[in-house]
Amino acid sequence: MDYQAILNVIEKELENFHPGGKVPDYIPELSSVSPDKFGMHLYGISGGHYCFGDSEEKFSIQSISKVFTLALAKKIGKKIWRRVDVEPSGDPFNSLTQLEKEKGIPRNPFINAGSLVVADILITHLENPKKDLLDFVRLITNDQSIEYDFAVAASEKKHGYRNIALVNYMKALGNIDNDVDEILDFYFHQCSISMSTKQLAKAFMIFANEGRILETNERVLKPNSVKRINAIMQTCGFYDEAGEFSFRVGLPGKSGVGGGIVALHPQQYSVAVWSPLLNEKGNSEKGMRALEELTTLTGLSIF
Ligand code: GLN
Repeated sequence: MDYQAILNVIEKELENFHPGGKVPDYIPELSSVSPDKFGMHLYGISGGHYCFGDSEEKFSIQSISKVFTLALAKKIGKKIWRRVDVEPSGDPFNSLTQLEKEKGIPRNPFINAGSLVVADILITHLENPKKDLLDFVRLITNDQSIEYDFAVAASEKKHGYRNIALVNYMKALGNIDNDVDEILDFYFHQCSISMSTKQLAKAFMIFANEGRILETNERVLKPNSVKRINAIMQTCGFYDEAGEFSFRVGLPGKSGVGGGIVALHPQQYSVAVWSPLLNEKGNSEKGMRALEELTTLTGLSIF
């Protein structure tokens, strides 16, 4: 498969595609990012990688980090599924509405409520959760340069009213063990991690490669954990647009309000795309278009 030729076609086709939408203003630090950024990077299972545009520029990974924290919780062997469900929510990522009905059990680990519970679990079991998370992301990317963006974390903390409400509400309903401020601090930092599409595509190869790091072949996740995480990405990775993403793209993946999307095809490739303008569901419009083109042109979706 000539991935580079296909990426060149996608870049050309979308050159004049200017999506509506906006950059998120509820995290002020993110609102200054240029809406014209556009980059894509793909890693094949045999180690080759292909790209165009701003594919090596770092941006805020935001909710993509929810896959890393879930993977870390599975890596350290923690039981999760009594405290977080695995059903698509059909609601926005920051919704509070289902929690009361479902006794504080979030619908899945990729909405904010679910990721806050995963954060709680990591804080209970890790000595130094922020360091351990960064070490894990650096390990699977084989790249020590990855860092938190403290300005983004502070900016979100200052305006994080919904997340503050979510974690307090779950605490009241008995599904949070640790101090809420500690959980929020961890959560805002996980979302602030700065990575490029190149680094994201490389990191997500563990989900395309049965839990092994592409470059070193080291196993970090059991194949069964990978199967489950991929299933949740497929059904819940795009909040109330998970059906649309599945329909148009046909790959497990995860988006973030920084404008990034990562998706993968088991045993074939992992791909990340970045374009900051978001549709009203909080997903990158141009990113989705680019991935739709990719699976159409390669014929390689999981369906
Ligand atoms: N940090 C963001 C929030 O909690 C992440 C949301 C997202 O990327 N969908 O609102």
